[in-house]
Amino acid sequence: MKQAQQMSLQIAIDGPAGAGKSTVAKLVAKQLNLFYVDTGAMYRAIAYKALKNGILLEDELSVSQIAKTTEIILDHSEERVVWCDGENVTLAIRKPEISRAVSIVAAYVGVRERLVELQRREATRGGVVMDGRDIGTHVLPEANLKIFLTATPTERARRRWMELVKAGKNIPLEEVAHDMKQRDRQDIERKVSPLEPAQDAVILDTTGYSVEGMVAKIVALTQEDEK
Ligand code: C5P
Repeated sequence: MKQAQQMSLQIAIDGPAGAGKSTVAKLVAKQLNLFYVDTGAMYRAIAYKALKNGILLEDELSVSQIAKTTEIILDHSEERVVWCDGENVTLAIRKPEISRAVSIVAAYVGVRERLVELQRREATRGGVVMDGRDIGTHVLPEANLKIFLTATPTERARRRWMELVKAGKNIPLEEVAHDMKQRDRQDIERKVSPLEPAQDAVILDTTGYSVEGMVAKIVALTQEDEK
C-alpha cells in the first residue's frame, strides 16, 4: 500500500463487547502503520470521572457537563496509556464497575457530542483504525473500510472472562456473560447512535477464527478497497 494512501486511510471497526475488536484493530493498525483509536476507552474515562466525582450516573445534565470539559488523550505507544485530565486511568477504566456504568453515560447526547469531537480530532492526525459502536455509522461515515465484528454471545463472554482471569480477576463466567448481555442491550436500544452495522459494513463473525486469520482478512479487504 502506498504511503500517501496510508496517511489518510480510515478503517472503522464496530461491534458488540467481546467480539475481538480491540485485539484485531491494534494488530491491523500495526501492520498498516496507522494510529489505533480505542473510542470505548474514552466513554469509560467519562464513566470513571463521573463516579470519582460522586455524580449520579442517572444525572444526565451533570454527566454531560463534566464530559464537556474533560480532556482525554490516548497515548499511541505500545503501553497505550489513557489520560483523563492528566490522570493515568489505563487500569482503572477496565474495572467491572466501570464496565457496568459506561453504557449509561454513553447514552447521553452531551457525552457523545464531546467524545465524537475528540475522536474526529484523532482522525485528523493521520490514518486510523478506530473501534467502537458508531464509528462506521456516525464518527467516520466516509471511512475507506467499515467492519462489523461479531461472535456468538457464548464465545464473546468466554473471551472477556479469559481477559479478566489473565488480569488476575476472579469473576464467575456467568456474571461476565450477564453484564455483557446487559451492556449490549443498552448499546443497541439507546436512541443516539445505537450499536448497529453501517449499511456498507462488511460483517465478519470471529467465532472459530484465529486473531491472525481475522487480521489477514481485514488487511486483504483494505487492499481490495484500493483496486
Ligand atoms: O469498547 P468497550 O467495550 O470498551 O466500550 C465500552 C462502552 O462504551 C460500550 O459498551 C458502549 O456503551 C460505549 N461506546 C459507545 N460508542 C463507542 C465506543 C464505546 O457507546 N464508539
